[in-house]
Amino acid sequence: MPSMRVGVLPKNHRFVLEVLRESGLGRHRTVGEIFAESRRRRPGIGHTTIYRALDRLCEMDLVREVRVPGAAYSTYEPMGPPHAHFYCTGCGSIEDVDYRLPEGVLGSLAERHHVAITGETLTFDGRCKTCLEAPATI
Ligand SMILES: [Zn+2]
Ligand SMILES: [Zn+2]
Repeated sequence: MPSMRVGVLPKNHRFVLEVLRESGLGRHRTVGEIFAESRRRRPGIGHTTIYRALDRLCEMDLVREVRVPGAAYSTYEPMGPPHAHFYCTGCGSIEDVDYRLPEGVLGSLAERHHVAITGETLTFDGRCKTCLEAPATI
């Protein structure tokens, strides 16, 4: 279980995991945001530590890196149930979308294309609620 593996993490890495978990599911934070928040709590912490911690946490499946086509930066979220993402091309916000490909789709795609599919990343894009409600600016 992840909780057992967390015990073997260096202190600093565990701290970064805490920072991410406290921001909660559904939040996607850039390295810059994670760094600022970590720094606020632990002024001595350096950039390299944050990068190393994120790499390690992703390797261990405790954190997921979310790369959205069109977004300037990768974001990170604590590992949770599988979901898709919605990317707002207006303001750049990323939201969770409760969607997975129907059971069997990946299997039949793999068969048809003679490949082994080991992951899926689904992103939708468009305009978020805030941008839709905002008065048009030209
Ligand atoms: Zn928006
Ligand atoms: Zn997400």
